[in-house]
Amino acid sequence: MSKNKGSESVKVVVRCRPLNRKEESNGPAGGIVQMDLRLGQVILRNPRASASEPQKTFTFDAVYDASSKQRDLYDESVRPLIDSALAGFNGTIFAYGQTGTGKTYTMQGVWLDPEKRGVIPNAFDHIFTHISRSQSDKQYLVRASYLEIYREEVRDLLDPNHGTARALELRESPDTGVYVRDLTSCVCKSIKEIEEVMNVGNQARAVGATDMNEHSSRSHALFLITVECSQPGPDGRKHIRVGRLNLVDLAGSERQAKTGVQGDRLKEAAKINLSLSALGNVISALADGRSGHVPYRDSKLTRLLQDSLGGNAKTVMVATLGPAPQHYEETLTTLRYANRAKNIQNQPRVNEDPKDALLREFQREIARLRAQLNHRKWRSKQKKEQVEGEGWERDGDEETEGEDEVEVEVEKEAQEYVKLEEQRLEREKEAIREDQFLLAEEKQRLLGEKERMMGDLRKEQEATEQLTAKYKAMESKLLVGGKNIIDHTNEQQKMLEMKRQEIAEQSRSEREMQQQMLVQDEETLELRETFTSLQQEVEAKTKKLKKLYAKLQCIKAEIQDVNDEHVRSRQELEQTQNELTRELKFKYLIIENFIPPEEKNKIMNRLTFDPEEDQWKFQPLVPAESKSSQMKKRPTSAVGYKRPISQYARVAIAMGAHSRYRAENIMFLELDMTPPNTSSLDRSTEAEQNQSRSVDNSPTKDRGVRKSPTSAQSEGVAAGSSTHANVWVTAAERDKRQQQNENLSNKNLRLKRRGDR
Ligand code: ADP
Ligand code: MG
Repeated sequence: MSKNKGSESVKVVVRCRPLNRKEESNGPAGGIVQMDLRLGQVILRNPRASASEPQKTFTFDAVYDASSKQRDLYDESVRPLIDSALAGFNGTIFAYGQTGTGKTYTMQGVWLDPEKRGVIPNAFDHIFTHISRSQSDKQYLVRASYLEIYREEVRDLLDPNHGTARALELRESPDTGVYVRDLTSCVCKSIKEIEEVMNVGNQARAVGATDMNEHSSRSHALFLITVECSQPGPDGRKHIRVGRLNLVDLAGSERQAKTGVQGDRLKEAAKINLSLSALGNVISALADGRSGHVPYRDSKLTRLLQDSLGGNAKTVMVATLGPAPQHYEETLTTLRYANRAKNIQNQPRVNEDPKDALLREFQREIARLRAQLNHRKWRSKQKKEQVEGEGWERDGDEETEGEDEVEVEVEKEAQEYVKLEEQRLEREKEAIREDQFLLAEEKQRLLGEKERMMGDLRKEQEATEQLTAKYKAMESKLLVGGKNIIDHTNEQQKMLEMKRQEIAEQSRSEREMQQQMLVQDEETLELRETFTSLQQEVEAKTKKLKKLYAKLQCIKAEIQDVNDEHVRSRQELEQTQNELTRELKFKYLIIENFIPPEEKNKIMNRLTFDPEEDQWKFQPLVPAESKSSQMKKRPTSAVGYKRPISQYARVAIAMGAHSRYRAENIMFLELDMTPPNTSSLDRSTEAEQNQSRSVDNSPTKDRGVRKSPTSAQSEGVAAGSSTHANVWVTAAERDKRQQQNENLSNKNLRLKRRGDR
């Protein structure tokens, strides 16, 4: 079926879930979806159409009806994909469909029920079982990451600060394609560990969302597994193959109502399905095959799945359907979408010895630690021999022995050395203590020295132990075929599994053959026909005509449907466009009327386009790398000089003190800090009146001049101001004074405004 060598089409399978209780109670109409499992066909009935209208038929790689088991879907459609990933291919499986049609059920399923476990847990089982059963010369490294795309932001679900962390960026490298920068990835050594990773991610997803159902129908979840496998090749060197698996649970594909939405909600609505509509566009462009440009860059999802759609990957799409009549339109759209995806051609190839294989790094690190450890142990061993006064006899035959044996021997000898050394030091200490010819001081000194030597010895030993622990931890991360995982299944079970796989394989090929036969039948119909009589010919041709006419009707209906859909989506787009244009106009209006042109130019000059991120960005005002140094230091040439003084400051100095507010009509008044006074009332009121009068009647030219604290003070003293007079003030008096102060400040404000004008 493939067009050219090395390319294969995206596998598309369709699954229909059973009617749920609510739908069953809704009416007797029953499901609108019928399936022919043998032929891989879906037959869709339009609940509103007349009985004469032909039903729509779609053919896929496989179909699964309401009674299908999770296991069937996995064995037939997913297992080959995971096997390829284990062999070093990239693989993607994604579930697409309306909310509530069983995407999550298919991908995850019910974890606690082995019968209902979905694709992801089954894949975990599959991967680790495969590793445990592979040959022991293979080394594996399995990593897992989990992310979600919500409102066009990529979020790491394994990050402990998931809720608050910044959205992650997408990057592209020539080797690995598009990847997520700073994405957490966990090395997993067993099924349990990888399940734990999945649980952590699922919890983060649930915590981040107030309404889980709402959230999951709007966010895309991607679980990424990388399996690296190293195996000695025919050339004797170890070769690494890297298989990457994307397990994707997409957001619900139903149209989000955009009518009557404005502002933030509009933006949200536009973003929710941006990734999904971009996915649709990418699939259309790829399936069409004629259009050169594929709009991968339109959304985060399509960029991440770039390799899976039309690139280096094997891809399986599971389209999920609901059987309820009220969702006829959505179901039809899903089927059309799936039908289109069948035409996408991928070019999968094995990823052999990529530069960034983590396994290679791990192997190097392990080798380094091992060398270090060996060196230490050799040293200890040699010291031991010196102590014992023996020569090393077996220098020559070390290579004939197995590496592990040598290592065990060396380790044993090293431990022996430490023990011997400790005993020797103890003995010496004992001897020093008992030596009666030594002075007490001398004894102390020698004992101290021996103590120190023992301390050193212990430290050395500790360091070795630490190194060993590190080495062991590192080594345990690599899974060795047939060793790390104990295979509990017995031979019978293994046989059973094999048989089941064979059956799945057979039914798949049978279906393919059936489908091919169907196509061929139609093509050869004309060639085989020979007619004996005119009557027969007429009959045959009438029959054929009828058949073709029915087909024509089908296609006409199809065209009508496609047109309707097109018109609908066009209307929606136009509406969105209108609203965006309106908002844009509004923004322009603000810019033109309220932002000075020079400010606008400044902003425009700072804008740059970031092709990596695919968006416009502000350049920082100060170049980032010199920011701290520039802000802090003075130029070295200016050391010892006075700081530069602005023209304004010079004028201000020339004009004398406090020229600052002179042009602004601001009057500066000292705060009236009144300590409790103790004398008679009259004087204070008098002083108050004096003061207020002097303020009120002061000539205009003096207003707004800030009084220096000293002059204000001296004035206060001259006027017998309340600040210095020891006057007892009653509550009423205080209120009155407050009132006056307020009046005063109001007046100042008025004056200032007038000045501004
Ligand atoms: P989605 O993720 O597409 O929104 P879910 O996977 O959450 O939908 O499925 C909605 C409901 O339908 C769940 O309660 C699920 O158990 C049930 N369901 C979906 N598919 C099947 C199926 N094939 N068999 C039985 N129940 C199913
Ligand atoms: Mg879901």
